[in-house]
Amino acid sequence: MTLRSALEGNHVSFPKVLENKTGGTIVTRFSKQQIITLYQITMEDVIILGTGCAGLTAAIYTGRAQLNPLVLEGTQPGGQLTTTSEVENFPGFPEGIDGYTMMDNLRKQAAKFGARYEHAKVDKIEVDGAVKKLYAGEKVYEAKTVIVATGARPRLTGVPGEQEMFGGKGVTTCATCDGAFYRDMEVVVVGGGDSAAEEALFLTRFASKVTLIHRRDSLRASQIMADRATSHPKIEMAWNSLPQEILADEKGFTRGIRVKDANTGEEREIACKGAFIAIGHIPNTDFVEGVLERDGDGYIVPSAGSQVKTKYEGFFAAGDCVDHVYRQAITAAGMGCQAAIEAERYLAEL
Ligand SMILES: Cc1cc2nc3c(=O)[nH]c(=O)nc-3n(C[C@H](O)[C@H](O)[C@H](O)COP(=O)(O)OP(=O)(O)OC[C@H]3O[C@@H](n4cnc5c(N)ncnc54)[C@H](O)[C@@H]3O)c2cc1C
Repeated sequence: MTLRSALEGNHVSFPKVLENKTGGTIVTRFSKQQIITLYQITMEDVIILGTGCAGLTAAIYTGRAQLNPLVLEGTQPGGQLTTTSEVENFPGFPEGIDGYTMMDNLRKQAAKFGARYEHAKVDKIEVDGAVKKLYAGEKVYEAKTVIVATGARPRLTGVPGEQEMFGGKGVTTCATCDGAFYRDMEVVVVGGGDSAAEEALFLTRFASKVTLIHRRDSLRASQIMADRATSHPKIEMAWNSLPQEILADEKGFTRGIRVKDANTGEEREIACKGAFIAIGHIPNTDFVEGVLERDGDGYIVPSAGSQVKTKYEGFFAAGDCVDHVYRQAITAAGMGCQAAIEAERYLAEL
Protein backbone atom coordinates (compact mmCIF):
# COMPACT_ATOMS: atom_id res chain seq x y z
CA MET A 1 0.00 0.00 0.00
CA THR A 2 1.31 3.45 -0.81
CA LEU A 3 0.69 6.69 0.98
CA ARG A 4 -1.43 7.80 -1.92
CA SER A 5 -3.63 4.70 -1.99
CA ALA A 6 -3.99 4.86 1.79
CA LEU A 7 -5.28 8.39 1.48
CA GLU A 8 -7.50 7.84 -1.49
CA GLY A 9 -8.96 4.60 -0.15
CA ASN A 10 -10.71 4.08 3.13
CA HIS A 11 -7.80 2.60 5.05
CA VAL A 12 -7.56 3.47 8.68
CA SER A 13 -3.96 2.52 9.11
CA PHE A 14 -0.80 2.62 7.11
CA PRO A 15 1.54 -0.09 8.32
CA LYS A 16 4.33 0.24 5.74
CA VAL A 17 7.63 2.04 5.86
CA LEU A 18 7.14 5.64 4.85
CA GLU A 19 9.83 7.75 3.35
CA ASN A 20 9.79 11.16 4.97
CA LYS A 21 10.59 14.53 3.45
CA THR A 22 14.30 14.44 4.22
CA GLY A 23 14.80 10.94 2.81
CA GLY A 24 14.70 9.16 6.19
CA THR A 25 12.13 6.51 7.00
CA ILE A 26 9.37 6.16 9.56
CA VAL A 27 8.08 2.67 10.44
CA THR A 28 4.84 2.83 12.36
CA ARG A 29 1.08 2.51 12.19
CA PHE A 30 -0.79 5.78 11.65
CA SER A 31 -4.46 6.69 11.82
CA LYS A 32 -5.91 8.18 8.65
CA GLN A 33 -5.97 11.61 10.26
CA GLN A 34 -2.30 11.27 11.19
CA ILE A 35 -1.47 10.23 7.65
CA ILE A 36 -3.30 13.28 6.31
CA THR A 37 -1.37 15.49 8.72
CA LEU A 38 1.94 13.92 7.71
CA TYR A 39 0.98 14.22 4.05
CA GLN A 40 0.22 17.90 4.48
CA ILE A 41 3.61 18.47 6.09
CA THR A 42 5.26 17.34 2.84
CA MET A 43 3.64 20.18 0.87
CA GLU A 44 6.54 22.00 -0.76
CA ASP A 45 6.72 25.68 -1.61
CA VAL A 46 8.56 25.03 -4.86
CA ILE A 47 9.23 21.86 -6.80
CA ILE A 48 11.44 22.13 -9.87
CA LEU A 49 11.43 19.38 -12.49
CA GLY A 50 14.79 19.00 -14.19
CA THR A 51 18.43 19.79 -13.54
CA GLY A 52 19.41 21.32 -16.86
CA CYS A 53 20.27 25.01 -17.24
CA ALA A 54 16.66 26.12 -16.71
CA GLY A 55 15.96 23.94 -13.66
CA LEU A 56 19.23 24.66 -11.88
CA THR A 57 19.00 28.41 -12.52
CA ALA A 58 15.48 28.33 -11.07
CA ALA A 59 16.93 26.39 -8.11
CA ILE A 60 19.63 29.04 -7.54
CA TYR A 61 17.09 31.86 -7.57
CA THR A 62 14.43 30.16 -5.44
CA GLY A 63 17.17 28.90 -3.10
CA ARG A 64 18.53 32.40 -2.62
CA ALA A 65 14.97 33.58 -1.98
CA GLN A 66 14.94 31.06 0.91
CA LEU A 67 12.19 28.96 -0.63
CA ASN A 68 14.05 25.70 0.02
CA PRO A 69 13.32 24.26 -3.47
CA LEU A 70 13.01 20.53 -4.06
CA VAL A 71 14.56 19.61 -7.41
CA LEU A 72 13.57 16.36 -9.16
CA GLU A 73 16.34 15.24 -11.46
CA GLY A 74 14.72 12.98 -14.05
CA THR A 75 16.87 10.49 -15.90
CA GLN A 76 19.52 12.93 -17.11
CA PRO A 77 21.02 14.78 -14.14
CA GLY A 78 22.63 17.96 -15.48
CA GLY A 79 20.59 17.84 -18.69
CA GLN A 80 21.74 17.98 -22.30
CA LEU A 81 24.91 19.97 -21.67
CA THR A 82 26.46 17.00 -19.85
CA THR A 83 26.66 15.34 -23.26
CA THR A 84 29.02 17.92 -24.74
CA SER A 85 32.70 18.37 -24.13
CA GLU A 86 33.05 22.10 -24.65
CA VAL A 87 30.76 25.09 -24.21
CA GLU A 88 32.25 28.27 -25.65
CA ASN A 89 29.23 30.57 -25.76
CA PHE A 90 28.03 30.70 -22.16
CA PRO A 91 28.93 34.17 -20.82
CA GLY A 92 31.62 34.29 -18.17
CA PHE A 93 33.96 31.59 -19.44
CA PRO A 94 36.49 33.20 -21.82
CA GLU A 95 38.36 29.90 -22.20
CA GLY A 96 35.16 27.86 -22.59
CA ILE A 97 34.09 25.18 -20.14
CA ASP A 98 33.40 21.48 -20.28
CA GLY A 99 29.61 20.88 -20.28
CA TYR A 100 29.66 18.41 -17.39
CA THR A 101 31.76 20.74 -15.21
CA MET A 102 29.50 23.68 -15.96
CA MET A 103 26.39 21.76 -14.89
CA ASP A 104 28.12 20.39 -11.80
CA ASN A 105 29.00 23.98 -10.84
CA LEU A 106 25.37 25.09 -11.26
CA ARG A 107 24.24 22.15 -9.15
CA LYS A 108 26.67 23.00 -6.35
CA GLN A 109 25.73 26.68 -6.53
CA ALA A 110 22.03 25.84 -6.06
CA ALA A 111 22.80 23.37 -3.25
CA LYS A 112 24.74 26.12 -1.47
CA PHE A 113 21.49 28.10 -1.28
CA GLY A 114 19.49 25.18 0.06
CA ALA A 115 18.26 23.32 -3.05
CA ARG A 116 17.51 19.66 -2.30
CA TYR A 117 17.77 16.99 -5.00
CA GLU A 118 15.86 13.76 -5.50
CA HIS A 119 16.15 11.15 -8.21
CA ALA A 120 12.63 11.07 -9.55
CA LYS A 121 11.05 11.17 -12.99
CA VAL A 122 7.58 12.64 -12.94
CA ASP A 123 5.09 10.72 -15.07
CA LYS A 124 1.83 12.51 -14.26
CA ILE A 125 0.70 15.87 -12.92
CA GLU A 126 -2.57 17.11 -11.53
CA VAL A 127 -3.73 20.56 -10.52
CA ASP A 128 -6.24 20.52 -7.68
CA GLY A 129 -7.16 24.12 -6.91
CA ALA A 130 -4.02 25.78 -5.61
CA VAL A 131 -2.31 22.43 -5.00
CA LYS A 132 -0.10 20.90 -7.67
CA LYS A 133 0.38 17.12 -7.47
CA LEU A 134 3.26 15.35 -9.10
CA TYR A 135 3.35 11.56 -9.47
CA ALA A 136 6.66 9.76 -9.91
CA GLY A 137 6.05 6.01 -9.86
CA GLU A 138 4.58 5.26 -6.45
CA LYS A 139 5.65 8.58 -5.03
CA VAL A 140 3.41 11.64 -4.83
CA TYR A 141 4.64 15.19 -4.30
CA GLU A 142 2.56 18.25 -3.57
CA ALA A 143 3.61 21.83 -4.06
CA LYS A 144 2.29 25.34 -4.05
CA THR A 145 4.40 26.19 -7.08
CA VAL A 146 5.92 24.00 -9.77
CA ILE A 147 8.50 24.86 -12.39
CA VAL A 148 8.63 22.38 -15.27
CA ALA A 149 12.12 22.51 -16.82
CA THR A 150 12.27 19.08 -18.40
CA GLY A 151 14.03 20.11 -21.60
CA ALA A 152 14.04 18.34 -24.92
CA ARG A 153 16.10 15.61 -26.48
CA PRO A 154 17.51 15.84 -29.97
CA ARG A 155 16.11 13.34 -32.44
CA LEU A 156 18.89 11.16 -33.81
CA THR A 157 19.03 8.87 -36.85
CA GLY A 158 20.05 5.80 -34.84
CA VAL A 159 22.73 4.70 -37.33
CA PRO A 160 25.87 2.95 -36.01
CA GLY A 161 28.62 5.31 -34.84
CA GLU A 162 26.25 8.20 -34.11
CA GLN A 163 25.90 7.63 -30.37
CA GLU A 164 29.58 6.79 -29.92
CA MET A 165 30.75 10.07 -31.52
CA PHE A 166 27.94 12.26 -30.19
CA GLY A 167 28.85 15.41 -28.23
CA GLY A 168 32.59 15.84 -28.69
CA LYS A 169 33.79 13.44 -31.37
CA GLY A 170 32.19 15.03 -34.39
CA VAL A 171 28.49 14.22 -34.13
CA THR A 172 26.30 17.02 -32.85
CA THR A 173 22.84 18.50 -33.12
CA CYS A 174 23.57 22.21 -32.75
CA ALA A 175 25.37 24.36 -35.34
CA THR A 176 25.04 27.50 -33.18
CA CYS A 177 26.79 25.65 -30.34
CA ASP A 178 29.44 23.71 -32.24
CA GLY A 179 29.84 25.25 -35.71
CA ALA A 180 32.90 27.30 -34.74
CA PHE A 181 34.81 24.10 -33.91
CA TYR A 182 34.77 23.16 -37.61
CA ARG A 183 36.65 26.09 -39.14
CA ASP A 184 37.97 25.20 -42.64
CA MET A 185 36.75 21.62 -42.35
CA GLU A 186 34.20 19.64 -44.35
CA VAL A 187 30.93 18.93 -42.55
CA VAL A 188 27.58 17.33 -43.35
CA VAL A 189 24.08 18.25 -42.18
CA VAL A 190 21.43 15.51 -42.10
CA GLY A 191 17.84 16.68 -42.58
CA GLY A 192 15.54 18.46 -44.99
CA GLY A 193 13.44 20.93 -43.01
CA ASP A 194 13.90 24.58 -42.14
CA SER A 195 16.27 23.77 -39.26
CA ALA A 196 18.50 21.67 -41.50
CA ALA A 197 18.65 24.43 -44.13
CA GLU A 198 19.33 27.02 -41.43
CA GLU A 199 22.07 24.90 -39.83
CA ALA A 200 23.70 24.33 -43.22
CA LEU A 201 23.67 28.06 -44.04
CA PHE A 202 25.07 28.94 -40.61
CA LEU A 203 27.87 26.41 -41.02
CA THR A 204 29.03 28.01 -44.28
CA ARG A 205 30.56 30.75 -42.10
CA PHE A 206 33.12 28.29 -40.77
CA ALA A 207 33.28 25.10 -42.80
CA SER A 208 35.11 24.79 -46.10
CA LYS A 209 32.24 22.71 -47.49
CA VAL A 210 28.79 21.68 -46.23
CA THR A 211 27.00 18.65 -47.66
CA LEU A 212 23.28 18.64 -46.94
CA ILE A 213 22.10 15.05 -46.85
CA HIS A 214 18.40 14.51 -47.45
CA ARG A 215 16.41 11.34 -48.09
CA ARG A 216 14.18 12.90 -50.74
CA ASP A 217 14.85 14.86 -53.96
CA SER A 218 13.68 18.22 -52.61
CA LEU A 219 13.81 19.97 -49.25
CA ARG A 220 10.81 20.17 -46.92
CA ALA A 221 12.05 23.61 -45.83
CA SER A 222 10.20 26.79 -46.76
CA GLN A 223 10.86 27.89 -50.32
CA ILE A 224 13.03 30.83 -49.31
CA MET A 225 15.24 28.72 -47.01
CA ALA A 226 15.43 25.92 -49.57
CA ASP A 227 16.47 28.36 -52.31
CA ARG A 228 19.10 29.95 -50.09
CA ALA A 229 20.58 26.58 -49.13
CA THR A 230 20.55 24.97 -52.56
CA SER A 231 22.06 28.04 -54.27
CA HIS A 232 24.85 28.62 -51.73
CA PRO A 233 28.27 28.00 -53.31
CA LYS A 234 29.58 26.20 -50.23
CA ILE A 235 26.59 23.85 -49.90
CA GLU A 236 26.41 20.65 -51.91
CA MET A 237 23.20 18.63 -51.93
CA ALA A 238 23.20 14.86 -51.42
CA TRP A 239 19.66 14.03 -52.57
CA ASN A 240 17.90 10.70 -51.99
CA SER A 241 20.59 9.76 -49.51
CA LEU A 242 19.91 7.64 -46.46
CA PRO A 243 22.56 7.71 -43.69
CA GLN A 244 23.86 4.22 -42.91
CA GLU A 245 26.81 4.78 -40.56
CA ILE A 246 29.00 7.52 -39.10
CA LEU A 247 32.60 6.49 -39.74
CA ALA A 248 35.38 6.92 -37.20
CA ASP A 249 39.08 7.55 -37.70
CA GLU A 250 41.74 5.64 -35.78
CA LYS A 251 41.28 7.95 -32.75
CA GLY A 252 37.51 7.48 -32.65
CA PHE A 253 36.64 10.87 -34.17
CA THR A 254 34.31 11.37 -37.12
CA ARG A 255 35.97 10.98 -40.54
CA GLY A 256 32.88 10.52 -42.72
CA ILE A 257 29.39 9.24 -43.23
CA ARG A 258 28.24 6.29 -45.33
CA VAL A 259 24.99 6.91 -47.20
CA LYS A 260 22.78 4.74 -49.42
CA ASP A 261 21.01 5.99 -52.52
CA ALA A 262 17.26 5.61 -51.89
CA ASN A 263 16.63 4.74 -55.57
CA THR A 264 19.58 2.59 -56.60
CA GLY A 265 20.67 1.16 -53.23
CA GLU A 266 24.24 2.14 -54.06
CA GLU A 267 26.38 3.14 -51.09
CA ARG A 268 29.10 5.80 -50.88
CA GLU A 269 31.14 7.63 -48.28
CA ILE A 270 31.11 11.39 -47.79
CA ALA A 271 34.19 12.68 -45.97
CA CYS A 272 33.48 15.03 -43.04
CA LYS A 273 34.89 16.00 -39.66
CA GLY A 274 31.51 17.06 -38.33
CA ALA A 275 28.06 15.50 -38.77
CA PHE A 276 25.21 17.82 -37.73
CA ILE A 277 21.98 15.90 -37.22
CA ALA A 278 19.09 18.32 -37.83
CA ILE A 279 15.97 16.19 -37.82
CA GLY A 280 14.25 17.83 -34.87
CA HIS A 281 13.89 17.67 -31.10
CA ILE A 282 11.45 15.86 -28.86
CA PRO A 283 10.36 17.91 -25.82
CA ASN A 284 10.10 15.88 -22.60
CA THR A 285 6.50 16.83 -21.92
CA ASP A 286 4.37 13.68 -22.26
CA PHE A 287 3.55 13.79 -18.56
CA VAL A 288 1.74 17.17 -18.85
CA GLU A 289 -0.67 15.78 -21.46
CA GLY A 290 -4.24 16.91 -20.78
CA VAL A 291 -3.17 19.43 -18.12
CA LEU A 292 -0.94 22.01 -19.79
CA GLU A 293 -1.35 23.23 -23.33
CA ARG A 294 1.15 21.79 -25.84
CA ASP A 295 1.72 22.63 -29.50
CA GLY A 296 1.72 20.08 -32.32
CA ASP A 297 5.36 19.17 -31.66
CA GLY A 298 4.81 18.73 -27.91
CA TYR A 299 6.31 22.02 -26.67
CA ILE A 300 4.49 23.58 -23.71
CA VAL A 301 2.65 26.71 -24.83
CA PRO A 302 3.03 29.57 -22.34
CA SER A 303 0.18 31.91 -21.50
CA ALA A 304 -0.11 35.01 -23.64
CA GLY A 305 2.15 37.82 -22.49
CA SER A 306 4.62 35.60 -20.66
CA GLN A 307 7.39 33.19 -21.60
CA VAL A 308 7.03 31.03 -18.51
CA LYS A 309 3.50 31.26 -17.09
CA THR A 310 0.90 28.59 -17.83
CA LYS A 311 -2.88 28.72 -17.52
CA TYR A 312 -2.56 27.66 -13.85
CA GLU A 313 -1.40 30.20 -11.28
CA GLY A 314 1.81 29.06 -9.62
CA PHE A 315 2.58 26.60 -12.43
CA PHE A 316 5.49 27.61 -14.63
CA ALA A 317 7.50 26.10 -17.48
CA ALA A 318 10.99 27.10 -18.63
CA GLY A 319 13.78 26.17 -21.01
CA ASP A 320 13.83 23.84 -23.99
CA CYS A 321 10.50 22.18 -23.08
CA VAL A 322 8.87 25.52 -24.01
CA ASP A 323 11.37 27.10 -26.40
CA HIS A 324 11.56 25.56 -29.86
CA VAL A 325 13.30 28.57 -31.36
CA TYR A 326 16.54 29.34 -29.52
CA ARG A 327 17.33 26.15 -27.51
CA GLN A 328 20.50 27.53 -25.91
CA ALA A 329 21.95 27.16 -22.42
CA ILE A 330 21.74 30.90 -21.79
CA THR A 331 18.14 31.21 -22.99
CA ALA A 332 17.11 28.20 -20.87
CA ALA A 333 18.88 29.72 -17.86
CA GLY A 334 17.12 33.06 -18.52
CA MET A 335 13.73 31.36 -18.56
CA GLY A 336 14.60 29.47 -15.36
CA CYS A 337 15.34 32.82 -13.75
CA GLN A 338 12.02 34.29 -14.94
CA ALA A 339 10.06 31.29 -13.66
CA ALA A 340 11.78 31.48 -10.26
CA ILE A 341 11.00 35.18 -9.84
CA GLU A 342 7.37 34.56 -10.85
CA ALA A 343 7.14 31.66 -8.35
CA GLU A 344 8.54 33.89 -5.63
CA ARG A 345 5.99 36.62 -6.41
CA TYR A 346 3.13 34.13 -6.49
CA LEU A 347 4.10 32.68 -3.10
CA ALA A 348 4.42 36.14 -1.59
CA GLU A 349 0.80 36.83 -2.55
CA LEU A 350 -0.61 33.66 -0.94
C1 LIG B 1 25.39 17.93 -27.77
C2 LIG B 1 24.82 19.26 -27.37
C3 LIG B 1 25.66 20.35 -27.30
C4 LIG B 1 25.16 21.58 -26.91
N1 LIG B 1 26.02 22.63 -26.83
C5 LIG B 1 25.56 23.82 -26.43
C6 LIG B 1 26.44 24.93 -26.32
O1 LIG B 1 27.64 24.81 -26.58
N2 LIG B 1 25.92 26.12 -25.92
C7 LIG B 1 24.58 26.28 -25.64
O2 LIG B 1 24.16 27.38 -25.27
N3 LIG B 1 23.71 25.24 -25.74
C8 LIG B 1 24.17 24.02 -26.13
N4 LIG B 1 23.31 22.98 -26.24
C9 LIG B 1 21.88 23.19 -25.96
C10 LIG B 1 21.66 23.19 -24.44
O3 LIG B 1 22.20 22.01 -23.91
C11 LIG B 1 20.17 23.27 -24.12
O4 LIG B 1 19.61 24.40 -24.71
C12 LIG B 1 19.96 23.34 -22.59
O5 LIG B 1 20.55 22.23 -21.96
C13 LIG B 1 18.47 23.35 -22.26
O6 LIG B 1 18.35 23.35 -20.87
P1 LIG B 1 17.00 22.87 -20.16
O7 LIG B 1 17.22 23.09 -18.72
O8 LIG B 1 15.84 23.51 -20.80
O9 LIG B 1 16.85 21.31 -20.48
P2 LIG B 1 17.80 20.06 -20.47
O10 LIG B 1 19.23 20.41 -20.47
O11 LIG B 1 17.29 19.19 -21.58
O12 LIG B 1 17.49 19.35 -19.06
C14 LIG B 1 16.26 18.72 -18.83
C15 LIG B 1 16.26 18.13 -17.42
O13 LIG B 1 14.94 17.66 -17.14
C16 LIG B 1 15.00 16.36 -16.57
N5 LIG B 1 13.73 15.69 -16.88
C17 LIG B 1 13.26 15.29 -18.09
N6 LIG B 1 12.05 14.71 -17.96
C18 LIG B 1 11.76 14.73 -16.64
C19 LIG B 1 10.64 14.27 -15.86
N7 LIG B 1 9.61 13.68 -16.43
N8 LIG B 1 10.68 14.45 -14.51
C20 LIG B 1 11.72 15.07 -13.90
N9 LIG B 1 12.80 15.54 -14.59
C21 LIG B 1 12.81 15.35 -15.94
C22 LIG B 1 16.23 15.74 -17.21
O14 LIG B 1 16.70 14.65 -16.42
C23 LIG B 1 17.18 16.94 -17.21
O15 LIG B 1 17.81 17.04 -15.96
C24 LIG B 1 23.77 21.73 -26.61
C25 LIG B 1 22.93 20.62 -26.69
C26 LIG B 1 23.44 19.40 -27.05
C27 LIG B 1 22.52 18.20 -27.12
